[in-house]
Amino acid sequence: MGPPGAGKGTQAEKIVEKFGIAHISTGDMFRAAMDSGTPLGLKAKGFMEAGALVPDEVTIGIVAERLGQPDCKQGFLLDGFPRTVAQADALTSLLANNLGVRLDAVLNIEMDREKLLKRLTGRRLCKTCGTSYHTEFIPPARADVCDKCSGELYQRQDDSLETARKRLQVHDEQTKPLIEYYRQQGVWQKIEGDQPIQQVLKAILTALGQKI
Ligand code: ADP
Ligand code: ADP
Ligand code: ZN
Repeated sequence: MGPPGAGKGTQAEKIVEKFGIAHISTGDMFRAAMDSGTPLGLKAKGFMEAGALVPDEVTIGIVAERLGQPDCKQGFLLDGFPRTVAQADALTSLLANNLGVRLDAVLNIEMDREKLLKRLTGRRLCKTCGTSYHTEFIPPARADVCDKCSGELYQRQDDSLETARKRLQVHDEQTKPLIEYYRQQGVWQKIEGDQPIQQVLKAILTALGQKI
């Protein structure tokens, strides 16, 4: 977990590779559905473009279906889910009643607001392989070209300054209450997000090492 721009996606890529587990990003699932114009994509589009959350019943539905797929049997990492108390309640029930697994850890990557805005407005993504860059912090060798696959880089529509601000506000209002929710379950840990990528990863592995 963590506010928009904290580095969830960047770290998730590294963690799933290391542990060989499924990467479940609700944001990526919604964007893929939007790109292919499915009914799910059409439902999500307006909310995402406005920087609002997609309604709980839609979001919970896709996660429940995804967690039932075979590749999740080896373990999974949820990236950007849950984001509301209703989603967290649904997850608690899914894990206990349907899947029979427990959460090892809830890691919350944290950073202050001004830095998050800089992270979001400078984010660029590869159209072909999805790798993320940052115009200032993680620039590609050639402007707008992916180092890995030479794909074209693009900016997410919701990474405009105005929509990024709105998303941070939505996070404060709807997602922050989950800190207390998971603190009470004894699984919550804070990760300092304002340090180089490898240092954040190190902090995450240390936090996980105490749990798994
Ligand atoms: P989230 O998934 O939490 O929204 P991302 O992983 O997409 O965040 O990161 C947001 C932006 O910040 C991206 O442009 C990414 O390249 C950049 N970024 C991620 N981690 C770091 C870091 N530790 N230092 C500097 N920039 C980072
Ligand atoms: P970031 O962490 O950078 O905000 P994501 O890719 O995780 O980006 O999310 C992008 C958008 O997708 C959100 O602003 C929201 O509209 C939608 N979304 C993603 N995850 C959820 C969720 N768990 N609940 C509701 N909406 C979500
Ligand atoms: Zn690429």
